[in-house]
Amino acid sequence: MSIRKKLIAGNWKMNKTSADAVALVQEIVAEAGKQNDVDIVVAPPFTSLESVGKALEGSVIKLSAQNVHPEPSGAYTGEISVGMLRSLFANYVIVGHSERRIYFSETDAFINQKVLASLKGQLKPILCIGETLAEREGNQTLKVVQTQLEAGLDGVSKDLATSVVIAYEPVWAIGTGKVATTEQAQEVHAFIRSLLVKLFGEAVAQKVRILYGGSMKPSNAPELLAQKDIDGGLIGGASLESRSFVELIKAAAAAK
Ligand code: PEP
Repeated sequence: MSIRKKLIAGNWKMNKTSADAVALVQEIVAEAGKQNDVDIVVAPPFTSLESVGKALEGSVIKLSAQNVHPEPSGAYTGEISVGMLRSLFANYVIVGHSERRIYFSETDAFINQKVLASLKGQLKPILCIGETLAEREGNQTLKVVQTQLEAGLDGVSKDLATSVVIAYEPVWAIGTGKVATTEQAQEVHAFIRSLLVKLFGEAVAQKVRILYGGSMKPSNAPELLAQKDIDGGLIGGASLESRSFVELIKAAAAAK
């Protein structure tokens, strides 16, 4: 049994009105809101954080935002700060998702500022890293992952490192139905763990959770979650429906 509790996180992206989000989370709470085998996180859009947070009250499920701005306040139209998220009782925030890197030109340096600001404000960052198809085909996977990990975690202290969650998400597997093979995923997860050992030492590295993300669904989850260094999943498509999300939670519980 791993010392790391498995974590299943649902990234709802730009989906669901507030009413739809509450309906979905109520179903998840009814099915999994009291279990203690797996940590569960849901990341609705900003507009549903408050209503989903209320629906989560009394359950074990934690709230995450999908993005954050590093500054505490100011003239940043359209942005949301760590303090604003904490005031809505968010515990986690997704940073560096490939969609933000690609569509919003987010750099490793900017993502690092978000990681540091989140940790300072007691928000746990879920730092997403991963290679594109061209990078994988060009044998650049490990180099890309190393650069994104080291830059994203620059300046993070040993003490705070265990509050970070890493999500390895090969860009070519996100929303495409193409899932990395268990060998491909485990190889990169083990590499990430070895980098964490260099950065923070063995004891800390063994406590940091590394999630897999990219077309994870109930049919492929058991094999992925059985891998030594795969500590859970960051789920897009399959988190938008309670039945598949709950099945993923059960798969993680069975793999613990
Ligand atoms: C994601 O966007 O984080 C993700 C993993 O999406 P999907 O599960 O739909 O591939």
